[in-house]
Amino acid sequence: MLKIPFGKPIIGHEEKEAVNKVLSGSKLVHGPVSDEFENLFSSFTGAKNAVSVSSCTAGMHLIYFVLGFGPGDEVIIPAQTHMATAHAIELVGARPVFIDVDKNGNIDINRIEKKINSRTKAITVVHYLGAPVDMPKVKEIAERNNLFLFEDCALSLGSKINNTHVGLFGDAGIFSFYPVKHLTTAEGGMVILNDNELAKKLKLAKAFGVNRNYSERKIPGMYDAEILGLNYRMSEISAAIGIEQLKKIPNFLKQRKKNFNQLIQSIKNIPYINIIPQPDNDYYKSSYYCLGIILDKKIAIKRALIMHELEKKGVGSSIYYPHPVPRISYYRKKYGYDENLFIKASMISDQIIALPVGPHLSSSDMDYIYNSIKEIWSKTDV
Ligand SMILES: *Cc1c(COP(=O)(O)O)cnc(C)c1O
Repeated sequence: MLKIPFGKPIIGHEEKEAVNKVLSGSKLVHGPVSDEFENLFSSFTGAKNAVSVSSCTAGMHLIYFVLGFGPGDEVIIPAQTHMATAHAIELVGARPVFIDVDKNGNIDINRIEKKINSRTKAITVVHYLGAPVDMPKVKEIAERNNLFLFEDCALSLGSKINNTHVGLFGDAGIFSFYPVKHLTTAEGGMVILNDNELAKKLKLAKAFGVNRNYSERKIPGMYDAEILGLNYRMSEISAAIGIEQLKKIPNFLKQRKKNFNQLIQSIKNIPYINIIPQPDNDYYKSSYYCLGIILDKKIAIKRALIMHELEKKGVGSSIYYPHPVPRISYYRKKYGYDENLFIKASMISDQIIALPVGPHLSSSDMDYIYNSIKEIWSKTDV
């Protein structure tokens, strides 16, 4: 039996050597390695600035904190996303305003304007499973209403629109380096943005608001702060892993695309499912986070059983995401939940199985996933 985990970081001797080098040196934070990772990430995405942070969630919180969002402010977000997209808004005391998604999981752009009012401060989009949101359209709405536009790119490292990397259409974009994402630093994240002033503020606020960074202090331990700040820095150890991972990203992305295209060719013949497509043309390019299949309603009630059968065959799968965020207890209790407003987001949460296509997997793994599904489906009661 093969063992096919949903996600598995690929850590080679390059990462281990880089980490050892940091550990043998004298700087574990505030050092040149995180600067270098930021520079490399800027070049990879084409951003003017990249600001490393301790996680994607921390980076989102940092952005809203620096923008001064608070009680009485609203941020529009899709209902189908990681709860972190909403939590970061709640953390500053502002309110996430949820909007349903289209059948493929991206924010339903046609519903955005109806939710804009005098309290609205920003629109945050999520490129669901790596499929880019139609950013020119959202940008037009954000500009017309004078709103900050933020892109949660946690699943979309490598996704592009018209050859521009996602994260650069809005005022800022953010990436996650959690272990199952496209590249990992164990925990970590990166904000990209073209606005130099905002980048400067983020760098200050992610390190207590201290006015001089470590290398600029003439007398050790002597510093002051004019603003409030957090401690959301990325360590040199994480940054060292990130640099080596970033070198491998072109190959990781190629393998994801190859796996996805192979699996979709065979799996499209399986009955009672719809596949969430990932675009690949001159205009839109996906990062191929996973292959999402939507089970028809009549078999979706057996999803847990199907996933268990897959697991028994050694095939890991997952759910992205388990609830529309407004249905999560915290939000449901605070704001109430009207299921009629989130038909598509709940359809995805309740009927999806996310299948692995990561670079830890090969062509024969894709055949194995397909054959496992075919076998499970051929059992009379699925
Ligand atoms: C994983 C994920 C996050 C959270 O990332 P962390 O680095 O774990 O904080 C946020 N948004 C989306 C869409 C995600 O998938």
